[in-house]
Amino acid sequence: MAQWFAIKGEHPNALLFFRMGDFYELFFEDAQAAAAALDIALTARGTHQGAPVAMCGVPVGQAEIYLARLIRRGFRVAIVEQMEDPASAKARGAKGPLARAVVRLVTPGTLTEESLLEAGQPNFLAAIAEAGGRLGLAWLDISTGIFETQACEPANLMALLGRIDPAEILAPEMELGPHAARRVNAAGLAMRAPANAAAARRELAQEFGAASLDAFGTFSDAEAIAAAAALAYVRATQMGAMPRLSRPASIGDAGLLLLDAATRASLEILRARNGGEAGSLLATVKLTVSAAGARKLAAWLAAPLTDLTALAARQTAWLALRDMPDSAAKLRTALRGAPDLARALGRIALGRAGPRDLAAVRDALAAGAAIAPLLLPGVALLDQAAAALIPDPELTASLTKALAVPAPPRLDDGAAVAAGFDPELDAERRLRDDTRQVIAAFQNDLAQLYGVASLKIRHHAQLGYVVEVPAAAVEKLREYPELILRQGMANGARFTHPELSALDRKIAEAAARAAARERVVFGWLVKQVMALAEPLAACGEALALLDVLQSAASLSAGKGWCRPELANDESFAIRAGRHPVVEAALPAGTGFVPNHCELSPQCRLMLLTGPNMAGKSTFLRQNALLIILAQAGLPVPAEAMRLGLVDRLFSRVGAADDLASGRSTFMVEMIEAAAILHQAGPKSFVIVDEIGRGTGTRDGLAIAQAVLEELHHNVRCRAIFATHFHELFMLTEALPRLHACTMRVKEWKGEVVFMHEVAPGAAQRSWGVHVARLAGVPESVAKRAEFLLNRAERNAQPAAALPLFAAVREVRETGIEAELERLDPDKMTPREALSALYELRTKLMAYRGKAS
Ligand code: ADP
Ligand code: MG
Repeated sequence: MAQWFAIKGEHPNALLFFRMGDFYELFFEDAQAAAAALDIALTARGTHQGAPVAMCGVPVGQAEIYLARLIRRGFRVAIVEQMEDPASAKARGAKGPLARAVVRLVTPGTLTEESLLEAGQPNFLAAIAEAGGRLGLAWLDISTGIFETQACEPANLMALLGRIDPAEILAPEMELGPHAARRVNAAGLAMRAPANAAAARRELAQEFGAASLDAFGTFSDAEAIAAAAALAYVRATQMGAMPRLSRPASIGDAGLLLLDAATRASLEILRARNGGEAGSLLATVKLTVSAAGARKLAAWLAAPLTDLTALAARQTAWLALRDMPDSAAKLRTALRGAPDLARALGRIALGRAGPRDLAAVRDALAAGAAIAPLLLPGVALLDQAAAALIPDPELTASLTKALAVPAPPRLDDGAAVAAGFDPELDAERRLRDDTRQVIAAFQNDLAQLYGVASLKIRHHAQLGYVVEVPAAAVEKLREYPELILRQGMANGARFTHPELSALDRKIAEAAARAAARERVVFGWLVKQVMALAEPLAACGEALALLDVLQSAASLSAGKGWCRPELANDESFAIRAGRHPVVEAALPAGTGFVPNHCELSPQCRLMLLTGPNMAGKSTFLRQNALLIILAQAGLPVPAEAMRLGLVDRLFSRVGAADDLASGRSTFMVEMIEAAAILHQAGPKSFVIVDEIGRGTGTRDGLAIAQAVLEELHHNVRCRAIFATHFHELFMLTEALPRLHACTMRVKEWKGEVVFMHEVAPGAAQRSWGVHVARLAGVPESVAKRAEFLLNRAERNAQPAAALPLFAAVREVRETGIEAELERLDPDKMTPREALSALYELRTKLMAYRGKAS
């Protein structure tokens, strides 16, 4: 137990998977936590300080399944292996426990096993560092080799974390919002964190074999420290083994469509509200056929572009594939069989490769070779992919010759290397197998010699090869001195025979030599692969890119999604657009009603009114989602779309109560509104749904109006503003760039029918009672509500009599507004300005019937 305590002392934050023979055992609190999390039996073993020691265990062969569950629940696991076998410990004359050591720390951000990773999602470890008041973020995925950094202002940290969505975050104590549970600190880890920016730069340069980090681009101090910390963490968790990582690249915001965390969540881009992928934009547009392709598609959707050239390249490439359907179909077939090259390379680089990882390289290379001739030259992205698809024909040939089909899961299973590849290995195997033949023949000899036809030679785990005979023959065989009775059984007995033991040894030795030779051959193959790691990684990237492009081509061909026309202006026009996710979710036969949307520069704000359930939120999101798709370079579900590239997209839909953070709906709504008003500009696009709902009607209405006015006058972005306050329609007269639309509703036999159609104009009423009736509120209650509503409407002032609207009308009717517009303060003397002010005031007072 002393050994356990010593190791636990070094890894207090991890569960110890303590190797004992064929099991990983857990003890004390580790056992209690794991037994509860895994739902396995908790037992006890011996006592410690008078109390029984809690214990549970998992078989080594199934460890990955249990690991996966523990990691998903946020545990970290230290794998403690036996560093010697019992025989060699005995030979060394050791007493006490076998030597053991931690060979790896398994944490959520440092996974490589297929069973622990989500195939279609990246798995990032992120590190955050601060230097001189600025933050730096570095993130890497050791399963695929991505390594990137970005400098960021503290205010933008959440947006950046939202984009990357790390599985684990190495960070000092700080506010991480919804990501807080993924934070890990380096305390208690034998990890050498970079002392300062200079040291961090030096370490990074050294790790990637450059004289200076500047060779890879410009990194802020905080980025360098974060990157070096992430590397140090990887080194600490992998116990020194270093994964294959590409050189760090500093990614700027430049060229990206900015989406803050709230917008990402509300648009459900990669994940739906419940955290799953089903129901997300990604799930709806994903026609990729490989895991690497799915990851790349997710990366495109998570970081849409603002670069016209890059977007045109993507569009041109999938259009080309769409226009050669035969090649695209063949491409799809080849990609479907292509394994996950990036992740296989990740395991190979860490010395964790099994035969199937090398087989994956072989099969990916075969897919690449099959695909290359399918691609017509002359399309930039396809040419680029084609150039990377055949990194080295010789490697393909030697892997094909070397690897057995099918590849066994583990190297220890033997038979990973095919016969005929390595003569030495073949010779050892022959020796092993010939001896087995000899034993088979020997069984016949003995049966005849002893006159026992039912005599069998069997292999026994402890005894080796034994002679087994039934009970009736036991006495007879005891007479032969060369046979030694080793074990009686219920219906017979087992004997050993000196010649058998000799053969047994010979087999064991030959088998051991064959296994050793097989490891050497395997190691040699791994070396060949690693020597080509860069071009192989590029080949994996090319396969992923082609998969995303064929997915886009299929969407366009199969569902008739169109190529959006992109420009560097402020246009926005969609003809017959559809909400991809809602459309896909509608029951078959109920058609989704397409809608146009046009926001011209002269009329860039849309006020959308309509009762609940009429389709306002759907329409709003649909337009935002089409922007994301268009700027990801993908086709869009519409007949036509023209888009002036958007620099920031804001979506505020249906304020959800953020109870977990202790903020009320209204507070959340206002914080989000503030963020839009501060950050949006003329190239931005904003959708606002039901702002002001979280407070009283008058408050809500006032705030909604104020926000709308600010968007109109100062922000000047393109925006769609949905509200059930149909009173806001009044504003269209005062705000020239605002136009009103409404969701069409029909009344039919006293029931409300939603047409889901956007039409010019305003909703006349809110149909609340109708919706309540639709929802199954008892008829008596609906009737009573109708009565109350009618009475209230009779007594109420018209909407325009609310102070707010009175003020709007007043300013307009007095002509003050027009006059103000004519004034040019820059060209006025102070005296002229003062007299203009007097004049305006006089007019207002006259209108109100008061003396000035
Ligand atoms: P609102 O925001 O006005 O309350 P929603 O946008 O939530 O309305 O839409 C309510 C429901 O109407 C949606 O869940 C969807 O099933 C249906 N719907 C919305 N828009 C359409 C459309 N264009 N075509 C068909 N059904 C639609
Ligand atoms: Mg709504």
